[in-house]
Amino acid sequence: MPDNENEKQSFSRKIKREIYRIDPGEMCCVRSRFKGLVLFGAASVSMSEIKLVSDNPDVVGCFVELSRLLGIEADVRQSGNGGVKYSAVVRDSVKIAQLLYDLKMLDESGGILMRAGDINKSCCRREFLRGAFMGSGAVIDPNKNYALEISAPNRELCADAARLFSDLGFKLQMIARKKKYVAYVKNSEVIEDILALLGACASQMELINIKIEKEIRNDANRGANGETSNLSRTINASVDQIRAIHKIRDTAGLDALPDDLREIARLRLQYKDLSLSELGKRLNPPLTKSGVNHRLKKIMKLASGRQ
Ligand SMILES: [Zn+2]
Repeated sequence: MPDNENEKQSFSRKIKREIYRIDPGEMCCVRSRFKGLVLFGAASVSMSEIKLVSDNPDVVGCFVELSRLLGIEADVRQSGNGGVKYSAVVRDSVKIAQLLYDLKMLDESGGILMRAGDINKSCCRREFLRGAFMGSGAVIDPNKNYALEISAPNRELCADAARLFSDLGFKLQMIARKKKYVAYVKNSEVIEDILALLGACASQMELINIKIEKEIRNDANRGANGETSNLSRTINASVDQIRAIHKIRDTAGLDALPDDLREIARLRLQYKDLSLSELGKRLNPPLTKSGVNHRLKKIMKLASGRQ
């Protein structure tokens, strides 16, 4: 089930590259992303050093940049035994003590807590999960199968991740594997929604495309080529529309749209593979194909910033 992180262009890598490019924003969120990354991805956490080892430069880059934003410089080394690996370490014990305190990772006796703790703000919850996914997340190549997972060094932390996902409406299972505890989900629609939550929208689109292509290929009775190419045209258009809708949802929010546009946006997200005329039939009152097209065009204009 785990994705092969050594594959240069694995699906997990693409997702992590997308997450890495997202600015964490406020300091509360910088801390939350860093905490998620350290809890789920660090090789060691102590009062004298926090160390992260990875063969993925984006994961190491994420650690280095977040450390810097939090006021600590990380030392990066590269080693080449059996494939390139990078290690990034912060060693300033005074700053580490302050940082662990700020991250609520110290208990009353000064011991280190490898737990998520309470994360009150929803912005920070999302950043924590972004960091956690950077640290130990994986999504299997969707051409093979569907599975998303995050592994934790202890059972409680794994349960913390499952609880955070559950708070956001996603049900994950837990399993112990090779001294790690893994929270995972195999439902492709849940995985799509989690990728959207993490901000990995291009990867989400890729997953949706692969899934639809697979469904088409698997349907041996699909009929003549003409019908298939119509279907793939529908799907390609749908993918562009969904991307635009996600962009609006993740920026201004769908509630910022006028009623008629919001209605069609919701429907498009719900029925990704329907043609425009089929979508129109689901509106109340129904709308013609060109009416639906007109609204979706408006949405795509709004998303691209062309008013
Ligand atoms: Zn925040």
